[in-house]
Amino acid sequence: MKRKDFFKGLAIGTIATPFVIRGLTGKSLAQNNGSANIITNKKYQWKMVTTWPPGFPVIGESCQLFADVVKAMSGGRMEIRVYGGGELVPALEVFDAVASGTAQIGNGAGYYWAGKSPAAQFFASVPFGMNAQQVTSWIVAGGGIQLWEELYRDFGLVPMVGGNTGVQMGGWFNREINSIKDLKGLKMRMPGLGGDVLAKAGGSPVLLAGGEIYTSLELGVIDATEWISPYHDYLMGFQDIAKYYYTPGWHEPGTALEYIFNKKEFDALPTDLQAILRSAAMHSYVWMFSQMEARNAETLTKLMGEGIDIRTFPPEVLAQLRVYTKEVIASMTEKDAFTKRVYDSYNDFRKKATNWADISEKQFYNSLEM
Ligand code: CA
Repeated sequence: MKRKDFFKGLAIGTIATPFVIRGLTGKSLAQNNGSANIITNKKYQWKMVTTWPPGFPVIGESCQLFADVVKAMSGGRMEIRVYGGGELVPALEVFDAVASGTAQIGNGAGYYWAGKSPAAQFFASVPFGMNAQQVTSWIVAGGGIQLWEELYRDFGLVPMVGGNTGVQMGGWFNREINSIKDLKGLKMRMPGLGGDVLAKAGGSPVLLAGGEIYTSLELGVIDATEWISPYHDYLMGFQDIAKYYYTPGWHEPGTALEYIFNKKEFDALPTDLQAILRSAAMHSYVWMFSQMEARNAETLTKLMGEGIDIRTFPPEVLAQLRVYTKEVIASMTEKDAFTKRVYDSYNDFRKKATNWADISEKQFYNSLEM
C-alpha cells in the first residue's frame, strides 16, 4: 500500500486489511494454521525442561511465570510443570528431550545448540553482535523468526523468543587488562564464540557450569570468569574473590532466551491454546527483560557502594577482539550454507540498526554527558 493510500484509508475510517497483532513469532496470534479451533474441556498436562538450575533467579522464575500465565489464560485447560536442569533431563539435553517428546516445552538459549547447527547461536548472542532491542527486532520484525523456524523445523521444534538478559558484563579479573597481551595465557570461564575469540588472543577458554565457577576462581583453577551481569554475579559472590569487574560484555551484548516446543504436539493443539502459548512467551519476555534491567541497576548501586573496582577494556583490546571475532565468524559461515544465510540476514539487520542507533540512542546518551 502506498503511503498516501494508507492515509486516505484512515481518513474515511476504514482500512482494507484489519490489523492483526503479531507476536514474537512469524505467525500472528490470530492466525489459524489449520488446526481445530474448537474449545473443548480437554486437559493438557505438559512438561517444560530448562537449562537453568532449579529456581534460578529471574531466568528460571520467568519459566514458572510462563506456566502460571498459560494456566490462567486457558482457564486451567493447560498445566505445565517446570523442571530445572538435571531434574528430568540434564541441562544440555533440553533440545533433544523436546525434539523426542520427552517434554513438550523447553527453555534455554540457542548458543547451547551450536553443535546441532552453528546458526542457532545467532538467535541467542554473538560477540560484538546486536543488543537486546536490536536482536529482538531482527527476530520479530526483521526476518529472523522465519529463519529460526526453518532451522528448528528440521529438528521437529517450534522456537519462540522468551526473554533477554540485556548486555552482559565483561567479567571478573584478578589482573588488569591493559593490552591484548594481557589475555595471553589467561584461563577464563568463557563459553561459546566468545571462548573461540579469547583463544585467538592466546587465552584459554574454560567451560564450567555455574555451580563450579566460584570455587575454581577462588582456588586459581581459572584466572577470570564471565557470568551474567551485576544481579546474578553478586549472588555468586565474585566480588569477594576478584579484584576487577570489567565492562563491556563484548561477548554477549544481549542474549536472547528461547522457548522451544515439540512441533507435532504444538501443531495438534487447538488454536486458542497455541495463541495462549505465543502470548505467554511475549509476557515472559517483557517480564524477564524488565526484571534484569531493574535488578542489575539496583545491584550495581550496591556494588559501587561496596567499593568494587569497575574497569573498562581499553579500545585497542576491543578493536583486536573485533578482528578475531570476524575471523571466527568467517570460518563458521564458510563451512555451512544455512549458517551463512542466517548470518547474512543478521548482519544486514545489524548494520542498519547500528546506523539508526548512531543517530538516536548514541546521540541521546552523549547528550546526557554534555
Ligand atoms: Ca554470560
